[in-house]
Amino acid sequence: MLYLVKFFLLVSANAFKRLMEASKKIGDNSPSPKRIKNNWAKEGSSKDITKKHYWKSGLSQAIMDVENIVASSDTVVIIKDKYPKAKFHYLVIPKVEQLNSARELTRSHINLLKEMQEKAKGLVKDRHPETKFKIGFHAKPSMDHLHLHVVSTDFVSTCLKTKKHWNSFNTEHFLDLPELISKLEENGNLVCYYPTDKDIELYLKKALKCNQCSLEAKTMPNLKQHLNAHAQSSSKM
Ligand code: AMP
Ligand code: ZN
Repeated sequence: MLYLVKFFLLVSANAFKRLMEASKKIGDNSPSPKRIKNNWAKEGSSKDITKKHYWKSGLSQAIMDVENIVASSDTVVIIKDKYPKAKFHYLVIPKVEQLNSARELTRSHINLLKEMQEKAKGLVKDRHPETKFKIGFHAKPSMDHLHLHVVSTDFVSTCLKTKKHWNSFNTEHFLDLPELISKLEENGNLVCYYPTDKDIELYLKKALKCNQCSLEAKTMPNLKQHLNAHAQSSSKM
C-alpha cells in the first residue's frame, strides 16, 4: 500500500514538473499580452502614418500618369476626379507649386490662380457648354497638393455618400475661386478671409440644404433622391 502511494506521488510530481516546463516554454516563445499590445501599438501607428501619407499624396502620383490627364499646359494639369461627386468632376492641379492648401496662397499666386481659372473655364466651355459648374477649393482639403475642384452642380453620383461630402461643396467650406482671387488682390493673403478650424467643423455639420431649391433633406439618401429628381426634370427641359 505504502509502495502504491509513493508511486502515485512520484508520477503526479513528474507530471506537474513536465506541465510547468511546458508552460515555461510557451511563455518564452510567445510575447506577453503586454508585449503584444505594445508591438501592435507601435506597428499600427507607424503603418497608419505611412499609409495616410501615401494616400494623401495620391494626387501628386495621379498627375504623373498620362492616362489620367485630360488637358495640360506648362504650369497646370487637369485630371478627372477618381471619385467624382457629380456627373462631371475635374481637378486642376499646378505642376510645380508645392502648396497643400488654399490657406497658404498669397498675392504671388494670383497669376497661377488666374491660369487655373482660365483652364477650368476653357474645359467647361469645350466639353460641357450646357452644364453649370462650381469652381473652387475646399477650405480643409483631405488630399495634399493644391487642387482646384471643377464640379457640375447636379451632384448626382454614387460617390457622393456622406453629409461631409455634400457640405464640403455646398457650404462656406467651398471657397469660390473668383472671390478668393479678389481677396488676394485686396489683402495680399487670406489671413482675414479664411475660415477657422472651428468654423470648418460647423460648416461640415450643417443641415442638408438642396443647392437648387429651398428643400432641407433629413438624410443623405433623401437628398440624393431629391437631386436625382432635379437632374431628371432638367434633362427633360
Ligand atoms: P479634397 O477634399 O479637396 O482634398 O478633395 C480631394 C479630391 O481628390 C476628392 O474629390 C477625391 O475624390 C479626389 N481623389 C482622391 N484620390 C484621387 C486620385 N488618385 N486621382 C484623382 N482624384 C482623386
Ligand atoms: Zn431641390
